[in-house]
Amino acid sequence: MEFTSAVKDRLQADLIITNGKVITVNKNFSIARAVAVKDGKILAVGTDERIKALAGRKTKAIDLNGKTMLPGINDAHIHAMLYWGSRPPLVLDVGYPAMKSISDIVEAVGKKARLTKPGEWIRGTGLNLENLEECKKVTARYPTRWDLDSVSPDNPVCLGVIPFTLGEHVAWLNTIALESIGITEDTAPPPGCEIYKDPATGEPTGFFKGALIDELIMRSIPGSTREQKRQALLTAMKELNSLGITSITEGALGPGGVDYQGGLWDAECISVYNDLCNEGKLTVRVSILLLFTPYGSYFPKELYDGLKYLGIHSGFGNEWLRIAGVKLFADGIPLNKTSWMYEEYVGGGSGKMVFTGDTDDERRDELINIISYAHKLGYQVGIHVTGDRAIDACIDGFVKAEQKEPRGLRHYLIHGDFVSAEAAKRMAEYGIGISVQPALTNIAVNFLPYSVGNERAAKYGSLRTMLDAGVHVAGGSDAPVTYPDWKLAMQSAVLRESGTASKVAQNITIDEAIRMYTIEGAWQDCMENVKGSIEVGKLADFCVLDKDILTVEPNRIKDIRNLMTIVGGEIVYDAGIS
Ligand SMILES: [Zn+2]
Repeated sequence: MEFTSAVKDRLQADLIITNGKVITVNKNFSIARAVAVKDGKILAVGTDERIKALAGRKTKAIDLNGKTMLPGINDAHIHAMLYWGSRPPLVLDVGYPAMKSISDIVEAVGKKARLTKPGEWIRGTGLNLENLEECKKVTARYPTRWDLDSVSPDNPVCLGVIPFTLGEHVAWLNTIALESIGITEDTAPPPGCEIYKDPATGEPTGFFKGALIDELIMRSIPGSTREQKRQALLTAMKELNSLGITSITEGALGPGGVDYQGGLWDAECISVYNDLCNEGKLTVRVSILLLFTPYGSYFPKELYDGLKYLGIHSGFGNEWLRIAGVKLFADGIPLNKTSWMYEEYVGGGSGKMVFTGDTDDERRDELINIISYAHKLGYQVGIHVTGDRAIDACIDGFVKAEQKEPRGLRHYLIHGDFVSAEAAKRMAEYGIGISVQPALTNIAVNFLPYSVGNERAAKYGSLRTMLDAGVHVAGGSDAPVTYPDWKLAMQSAVLRESGTASKVAQNITIDEAIRMYTIEGAWQDCMENVKGSIEVGKLADFCVLDKDILTVEPNRIKDIRNLMTIVGGEIVYDAGIS
């Protein structure tokens, strides 16, 4: 029988990718030469000859020219909407090198004010006094509201930094902004925030410093519009694709994010994701953890009601956009001594959990109750948790829920700074995962000795211990906390050796690091049969690198560039393969 050419076309691959080093990340970590794609999925993986035989007259072909291809990268914990909604082009760039002086910034704000309707807020990010001419002189001065008033009398101005970024947090407001927030000479600064005042008159100068500026200022600034959120997301996906990222977990979006940081955590953000999904405009696959109770506060009723009345559970959605589960916060961060630890911090205190209750036991019970409640309703639970004692409490909760009613929901720790060997064993046994941010390691191990001492600092980020125990470890950036550069994060994970005190090296191999950012991210999404490796039948999500990540010097991993990104068989980023 002769096939018509139309039938032949239908049987052939849509895309063939040949002549490369294809790191499949299958069970045996095999290397192939070529891949064929049809209908957005992987049709075949193998030799050049075999793949070329699947091509027809309408098949598109990519010659990798010997370059290395990986499965698309999965950032397992990120706040994409928050990050890109707080950055240029949506928000004025007042950072170096765009701005070199106070007068540069004043000029830029003036220009922006002329284009902005009276009353609308002007926001800027990247403010860093160290880079500003006037602040470097011997007669250094701080910026003031009067600098801005001259160019923006009718628009409130707030210039600062992206929320949660590392480094010093500062803010610079004009008079109308101060008035609209209600900051006067009588305003007492919340702990962790400094309000600069004119020494002669006692008036606030419009300049603020401190990690908790958000508490005072950011909550009062009107939220982003739906259109701004849409722009943030489109910008986010473009940049994520340029990095080779094809899947993310949005760490926390929902009603608990309302009125917080420009509304960039709120439920409307989910709706904007939904719009783009319906329009076929998503170029990154997204899993969302729902947030019912605000960061830093805890409202049990909102959480319990939210879970109960939503009427959905983990996995709601499709291959592009899905509700993964629910996000909880258990404790704070060790650098601020707010993680719940077994032993005291340097200088005293051992932190506590954020749940309601007057004693540690009551708070622990509340955590365990919420976990079992969410578990019963079918939600995967991802918990921000850092202290060793809080980690054990979360694991207790997960184990208890799973023992009572086995559902395999793959609950997981987020951050999990101090997972002990015993904790790792229990996690492996009960299928409890963890989402880590290795890019923070080098920063954390330098600063942690001041809060937890050398010995415990050496135990931070126990990747080796967890992998040896068989824990599913997924990698992420937690952007804005770190930039979503997975290569830098992998390098940190591969090169890291813990401090001398514990004598236990926690570094991992490059193969393990690659798994963390591909198949283990897919595992966290309960989608390891659908994505995360280059195997027949899986989604055709790939990235092409300019160097061989398996053989490059470990301290050069960060310099690898992504050349091309493919999602569902479509090229979404192309810097050219040569
Ligand atoms: Zn986060």
